[in-house]
Amino acid sequence: MTRSLTGVFGGTFNPIHLGHLRAAQEVTEQLELDRVLFVPSAQPPHKDGTCGDPIAPAALRLAWVRAAAADNPHFAVDALEIERGGTSYTVETLRALTEELAPNEPVFVIGCDAFAEMGTWREPEALFALTHFAVMTRPPVADGRLRDWLPKCVSDAVEMAPDGRSGRHRETGKWLRSLEILALDVSSSGIRRRLRSGLSVRYFVPETVRDAVEKCGVYTST
Ligand code: ATP
Repeated sequence: MTRSLTGVFGGTFNPIHLGHLRAAQEVTEQLELDRVLFVPSAQPPHKDGTCGDPIAPAALRLAWVRAAAADNPHFAVDALEIERGGTSYTVETLRALTEELAPNEPVFVIGCDAFAEMGTWREPEALFALTHFAVMTRPPVADGRLRDWLPKCVSDAVEMAPDGRSGRHRETGKWLRSLEILALDVSSSGIRRRLRSGLSVRYFVPETVRDAVEKCGVYTST
């Protein structure tokens, strides 16, 4: 039986932007995913919202992700991290989703900037054994290969292909692949900076959420 693949796209989405949506679209097409589940985090472990760079309340970020994904039949949103509350650990999320999605298999969708940091995440060894990975190129980190971004703690567990662009977990057979996607140099932090400066974020975020993002006051209040 061929199992369908479901993308799992985790992030803070603070706020969601066109870079996220275009990336999810391209990964869907390249891997022929049945759909992509956007999974907004409750409290991301590596971002604390201090230093004048706030994180919008989870309910707001979730509402924006839902509105942004609504018109694409291949996109869906799963609020499990927000419903679970507390610090969001991807390994816990993937454990839950692996059961929930069966017999479909999850593919964790991640930008190469975040992937390169995965050695600092909770239980990276378990996470690599648990799920496939689609690692997207993202400006400015467009150079390099998957092999260069692979966390050291999993380098023995993963056998890389000679070209360094894909690999396979030696025990579980879960694969990882780097995917070239169109470079849209848009980031949530850039959007928050613009809002702090009183600038519009038109054409950076979907028009359906722009008004709410610009007027929420979260990013301009510090
Ligand atoms: P920030 O600028 O606040 O760090 P971000 O724009 O990276 O935020 P996140 O919600 O942290 O947004 O990103 C979720 C995931 O989306 C990460 O894996 C990140 O690498 C990826 N991503 C974000 N923006 C892009 C983009 N323009 N192209 C490809 N991937 C992206």
